[in-house]
Amino acid sequence: MDIQQEQRRDNPPTNPHIALERRYCAHNYAPLPVVLSRGEGIWLWDEQGRRYMDMMSAYSAVSFGHAHPQLVAALASQAQRLAVTSRAFYSDKLGLFLQRLCETVGMERALPMNSGAEAVETAIKAARKWAYTSKRVPQGRARIVVCKGNFAGRTTTIVGFSSEAQYRAGFGPFDGGFDSVPFGDADALEAAITPDTAAFLVEPIQGEGGIVVPPEGYLRRCREICTRRQVLLICDEVQTGLGRTGRLLACDHDGIRPDGLVLGKALGGGLLPVSAFLARADVMAVFTPGDHGSTFGGNPLAAAVATKALELLADGVLIDNAERMGRRLREGLRAIGHPAIREVRGRGLLIGMDLDPALIGGRAFCERLMARGILSRETHDTVVRFAPPLLIDAEQVDFALAAIRAVFSEIGEALHEH
Ligand SMILES: *Cc1c(COP(=O)(O)O)cnc(C)c1O
Repeated sequence: MDIQQEQRRDNPPTNPHIALERRYCAHNYAPLPVVLSRGEGIWLWDEQGRRYMDMMSAYSAVSFGHAHPQLVAALASQAQRLAVTSRAFYSDKLGLFLQRLCETVGMERALPMNSGAEAVETAIKAARKWAYTSKRVPQGRARIVVCKGNFAGRTTTIVGFSSEAQYRAGFGPFDGGFDSVPFGDADALEAAITPDTAAFLVEPIQGEGGIVVPPEGYLRRCREICTRRQVLLICDEVQTGLGRTGRLLACDHDGIRPDGLVLGKALGGGLLPVSAFLARADVMAVFTPGDHGSTFGGNPLAAAVATKALELLADGVLIDNAERMGRRLREGLRAIGHPAIREVRGRGLLIGMDLDPALIGGRAFCERLMARGILSRETHDTVVRFAPPLLIDAEQVDFALAAIRAVFSEIGEALHEH
């Protein structure tokens, strides 16, 4: 699972592309040994032409599938017209994109960025300044409540509030200002709030934390508590948003609207990094010219592609498909009933299968799955994620289930031999 382990397994690497990456790239990932060179829809091909089903979707960034013709067309035509201007000027794409974005998700204002982490940083800045200007929190004292097991990106501020030791180790000092509570426990949120609390930042489903679904009604209670205690509820839907969980937003399962919303990943249509922080008008009003920015944020190319991505969600067909195919996949996984499966959880097409590490590790499982033409990765060692593009159909779900069942019978045989 770690890099050394992988290098022992294949050392020196026989594939020249793997060898080059290992030689020149920082070893901050430990990829599966497959070299991808083409993608279409839910399928990927390696350089030898072997086909794989993408059950990873680049951590949910490729919700619309690879090389979606309408997204590629939007990208190509805008690239030929005008791609990057900076926000020193207006463009004929940004306003239309943000109008569509705000109207789609029911928020008043949006601030465009590129990566998810940048949009989370934007949310943190907005919440703190809002606390000083609107809530009259004394300067320098604003605090933000977060959840244990959170994932919000890799900047120093963000890893500073992670509960994952490896994300933090060696990267301090951290600036503080965060209080952490167990995910799914609304009483703990209530107890953690002080007069200095600016916001509660939460993922409706913890993605990298292991596809953890909170108890029924959790977000509804958080909404009530935040409103009553004058704390901003900020939902990080970078991974769960835009149809992934079978609703436009994962918040929709609880029928609530947050005060701040963070989107990314799928917003870029699987082609570009596009993210945004959205908020109520009075919250976004804290930003004045010069307060915050990004060279590439909201560029016309990103705006054109993201607008098309939102258009593709508009009729709800893809979102309903995520709901139905997600149920089919979860039910199929549960029906396998292998002793190594501790739990199958998730909503829509954000699914985690938690394995008993005494029987099989997540990485080893993914390697066996890869040999059968399915690509995915584990999170937190034991949880195998199944998050295909939202356009997967029933036959393809059944194909994946057959491959997964085959891996489990293989493991069964391996266990018997020992
Ligand atoms: C991936 C992710 C982020 C960070 O996005 P990047 O584009 O990798 O910076 C933030 N929040 C959540 C919930 C995520 O899953």
